[in-house]
Amino acid sequence: MTKPVIGWGLIGASTIAAEHMIDAIRAQPGHAVVAVASTDATRGRAYAATHGIASAYDSVAALLADPAVAAVYISTTNELHHDQVLAAARAGKHVLCEKPLALTVADALAMAAACRRANVVMATNHHLRNAATHRKLRELIRAGAIGKPLFARVFHAVHLPPHLQGWRLDKPQAGGGVILDITVHDVDTLRFLLDAEPVEAVGMAQTASMAREGLEDGAMSVLRFDNGLLAQLHDAFTVKFAGTGIEIHGDAGSLVGRDVMTQRPIGTLTLRDAAGERAVPVEHESLYARGVAAFCAAMRGDGSPAATAEDGIRSLNAAVAVREACRGGIAVRIVDPV
Ligand code: NDP
Repeated sequence: MTKPVIGWGLIGASTIAAEHMIDAIRAQPGHAVVAVASTDATRGRAYAATHGIASAYDSVAALLADPAVAAVYISTTNELHHDQVLAAARAGKHVLCEKPLALTVADALAMAAACRRANVVMATNHHLRNAATHRKLRELIRAGAIGKPLFARVFHAVHLPPHLQGWRLDKPQAGGGVILDITVHDVDTLRFLLDAEPVEAVGMAQTASMAREGLEDGAMSVLRFDNGLLAQLHDAFTVKFAGTGIEIHGDAGSLVGRDVMTQRPIGTLTLRDAAGERAVPVEHESLYARGVAAFCAAMRGDGSPAATAEDGIRSLNAAVAVREACRGGIAVRIVDPV
């Protein structure tokens, strides 16, 4: 007898689903993408045809009424996540939701509470925790490879590709801007690597060339974590050639990751300590498939998702603090004394 398929519904005919998540769901044995909901019926049907999805709906309610859908992946623009998660929970569907979970921490808390009440799994799609590089960094830090971690530097200034230069740049009401888009990932990655929580934020942001409507397209911030560590984050949409990376510096060694703040299973790690410098071997695998696998296991009652709802809430909370610091925090004015 063939095992019944666990059906997924996509809420949002999005780029991230097309580029990464449909394949990641299909990589799970016994799981299938069975439906997509788009606000535009024509585009939804075209998307379903392109990606071989059986049903296209022009409303979230219609998708949630489909008994073939057991879980939903929500990748609409950020202002829609809250209502869509609540509706999915009411319909008894498990929820994998994109980051930032919501525009406010209060909304994100309400989403998690609704899923708890409905007894459905809720997770946040913070993919970087699933990277082999970041998992190896976490393992080494926990094993004491660099002694006490004191500082972290995150290099996440990238160029927003032309096909994504839409709502992120000009729709504050959709949660646009680099801080809710990229800084939130940095925070989540650091929380994962350090097993620590950010407690203070300072920062400055710029609107250099891409963003409008009061949104930021570049930011530099510093976070203090509850273990005393200071982390410096550099995030941008506007920088073409910086490359990404992360460094964790401890009192007995330094770990350096290059090309690791990315969606792809790439990047290198180096450990430097009193014994010298050496490459740390990493076996790469799809970040998104690994995250979906953990979510599927959690649906079966086996363990937790890679990034839980609470991870999404905490990472959003710190990103909101960074944005507040950038927009109105204390900056000591430097006046030319000469
Ligand atoms: P998109 O702009 O591709 O999709 C967002 C919404 O825009 C879709 O729900 C869709 O609406 C609409 N849309 C998509 N393509 C078109 C089009 N050609 N014409 C008109 N409307 C269109 O956004 P992303 O996929 O980049 O991001 C979606 C979510 O995923 C966000 O929350 C983002 O933060 C997150 N994200 C997460 C990543 C990760 O690695 N975890 C990476 C990238 C994004 P409709 O619902 O009507 O179909």
